Amino acid sequence: MRTSLYKSHDELKMMVPAGLLTAAALDAVEAAIRPGISTLELDAIAEKTIRDGGGVPNFQLVPGYSHTVCASVNDAVVHGIPNSTPLEPGDVVSIDCGAKLNGWNGDSARTFIVPGEITRPNASEWLAEANRVSDATRAAMWAGIAAFASARHLNDVGTAIEVAIDEQAGPLGNLENYTGHGIGRDMHEEPTVFNYRVRRRGPVVRAGLAICIEPMLTGGSPDVTVDDDGWTVRSADGTVASHWEHTVIRHADGMWVTTAEDGGAAGLASYGVVPVPLA
Ligand code: MG
Ligand code: MG
Repeated sequence: MRTSLYKSHDELKMMVPAGLLTAAALDAVEAAIRPGISTLELDAIAEKTIRDGGGVPNFQLVPGYSHTVCASVNDAVVHGIPNSTPLEPGDVVSIDCGAKLNGWNGDSARTFIVPGEITRPNASEWLAEANRVSDATRAAMWAGIAAFASARHLNDVGTAIEVAIDEQAGPLGNLENYTGHGIGRDMHEEPTVFNYRVRRRGPVVRAGLAICIEPMLTGGSPDVTVDDDGWTVRSADGTVASHWEHTVIRHADGMWVTTAEDGGAAGLASYGVVPVPLA
């Protein structure tokens, strides 16, 4: 059944608790991340948070996937599968997570750098590069979210993301063939949300549109490979990678980031965008 691109106000309101539960799961992962913990343990922490909150880990509803999070480490960009390898100081870990609550979904990702003394060669250069790529990806996400607040057409978001990436210093690879998406009763819905400029304008942005904005960047080329596991997407040149994502809605009175406790206020402040809670 094809559902409308545009949700009712009551439907959008249902998405707020699902977003907050998704944020809580990522907060719990963030609080737990340290040297020696594995991504499988982080997965269990996220699952417990979601189930304790009355939700279902919606990644487990994706055919063929049995975990709560995707955990993509260092040169892995997205879709990494949690495993038992202990994390080391300086590891760059992108955690993508979603909760379904009362039939509605949230989806969000953050990149963390494992604290502690880095023992790998060229430690300070590694850390600087990890921060550069993660900060650029996060900035690109907020630029896209800020554009969504006033966009007439959805593909303005991708243009804003591309412009934001171009403003950053140093090489960055913006993944092709991987995009954001609509979200609602299903985690992945129409429409496609591009992370780059495209010729088509895309759907009209108006009240009722609920989407995930999720740039994925490497520190070099946009070319990627997929591991033999069929999931893990890595930078082909081995550069460190990052993934940041939020679920964002446009409603009658403005916009709101459902997967941020403050609705995105802190991240949007430098763009002069003030998120408005749903009445
Ligand atoms: Mg996601
Ligand atoms: Mg997503």
